[in-house]
Amino acid sequence: NYILAIESSCDDTSAAVLCNTKVLSNVVATQEIHRQYGGVVPELASRAHQQNIVPVVHQALAKANIDKKQLSAIAFTRGPGLMGSLLVGTSFAKSLALGLNIPLIEVNHMEAHILAHFIEDGDKTPPKFPFLGMTISGGHTQIVKVCDHFDMEILGETLDDAVGEAFDKSAKLMGLPYPGGPLVDKYSKLGNPNAFEFPKPKVDGLNFSFSGLKTSILYFLQRETQKNPAFVEENINDICASVQYTILEILMDKLTLAVEQTGIQEIAIGGGVAANSGIRARLKEAEEKMGWKTYIPKFEYCTDNAAMIGIVGYLKFLKGDFTNQSVAAKARYAIGS
Ligand code: ATP
Ligand code: FE
Repeated sequence: NYILAIESSCDDTSAAVLCNTKVLSNVVATQEIHRQYGGVVPELASRAHQQNIVPVVHQALAKANIDKKQLSAIAFTRGPGLMGSLLVGTSFAKSLALGLNIPLIEVNHMEAHILAHFIEDGDKTPPKFPFLGMTISGGHTQIVKVCDHFDMEILGETLDDAVGEAFDKSAKLMGLPYPGGPLVDKYSKLGNPNAFEFPKPKVDGLNFSFSGLKTSILYFLQRETQKNPAFVEENINDICASVQYTILEILMDKLTLAVEQTGIQEIAIGGGVAANSGIRARLKEAEEKMGWKTYIPKFEYCTDNAAMIGIVGYLKFLKGDFTNQSVAAKARYAIGS
């Protein structure tokens, strides 16, 4: 079965073609326009999706060497995300499915970040049920108990900023361009994680909070640059390493608590921040020290991509779980609803 998948929830226009669990193509057009504004501008994102969607789909079909007449179904991101962005992908997917007279399949973007682990990737095996999914992205931070592909329960999530936002906003305070997460990661490798100390938030249970960290970084940088205007420039590596260390401590503390509470040691992370080299190293360490089994998807399946939408599409296709043509995009769309 060939599934065409469309992802347009935020600022990446993406299309993928899957043959069952195998990805034949995964084309991502990243919208550079937002860089100059230091964040995603929703109006511009919708417009760029509208410009990109047809060429991106054509490219995905061409790369997969598939004619659209061979497609078995169209999967698309229904939500959560920016309404204007979701409307573009949703309308396009509906029209194409109608035109080709094939099933339409709606996908929850956050479920897709977790189920990306089921994309075939060499001899890598997917996580075994039940496992703990930790989705760490630009808009979400969640720990999810996954009992089956479509049996998920959120155990904890952020009460304010997402972890990706914590990276990006900290980076912005240091004068780094958007999105700053990858740059913080890069500079961290050259710095001392214990150079500066930032307080960890006190949040009970498995929920997260990152807005306090941002504020303490702001005050810290204000204080230090008053003394030495070149402070950030001179200490960028150490600041990044210390910020990243604090963020990773917060994530690992909660993950450890989730393992203790559930007794589940199968851990699968996903979302853009899963690309972070520090979290990857910490999970490896936890495998050795704590006996966890950890899973991290390939880089291109961590950040927003249509391949992860395609794998969910395929799993739903097997169940005959199709969507009615009257479906509408959903900006807020909880996992498992
Ligand atoms: P959501 O999936 O919650 O709707 P999103 O799709 O916008 O949000 P993703 O594309 O999954 O988010 O992730 C983007 C985030 O990942 C950005 O905040 C970016 O800074 C962060 N990120 C990407 N690479 C790294 C890295 N190496 N280290 C830290 N953060 C990173
Ligand atoms: Fe995402």
